[in-house]
Amino acid sequence: MATNRTFTMIKPEAVANGTTGKITDMIIEGGFKIKAMKLKQLSKEEAGEFYAVHKERPFYGELVDYMSSGPIVAMILEKDNAVADFRALIGATDPAEAAEGTIRKKYATSKAENAVHGSDSDENAEIESNFHFDAEEVVG
Ligand code: UDP
Ligand code: MG
Repeated sequence: MATNRTFTMIKPEAVANGTTGKITDMIIEGGFKIKAMKLKQLSKEEAGEFYAVHKERPFYGELVDYMSSGPIVAMILEKDNAVADFRALIGATDPAEAAEGTIRKKYATSKAENAVHGSDSDENAEIESNFHFDAEEVVG
């Protein structure tokens, strides 16, 4: 079932670089409504669990270290066709391949430190939102 919601994180290097506001502006200007938002420090265990699907990939250890290296900003976003439209707004995983005008093209520093996360399906958007937020933290 399409929920018209997606989940994002502004990743640690983008928060540390002071681009939280600029990225949030791009999200709002892209037509997304923020339904939940918080600044959060992930533990290694939490980062490892969030990215468990990548456990066998060579970059998993570095990804877990990176995602727990400083605070992230987690958000639940709402828009028609939210998952696909948000993936379009953020651009390709590797900023070298990301289209002009996308968040990763503008703010990612590498394929690993790529500024933002975006859910890849409605099912994962729901799972990832529930990982970070309780129901009472989400506005109606
Ligand atoms: N990643 C990495 N090296 C790679 C591929 C991915 O460090 O070769 C990191 C990067 O931070 C990416 C995350 O792992 O955002 C999750 O990878 P995925 O393939 O799901 O990319 P995404 O869905 O974030 O575009
Ligand atoms: Mg992914």
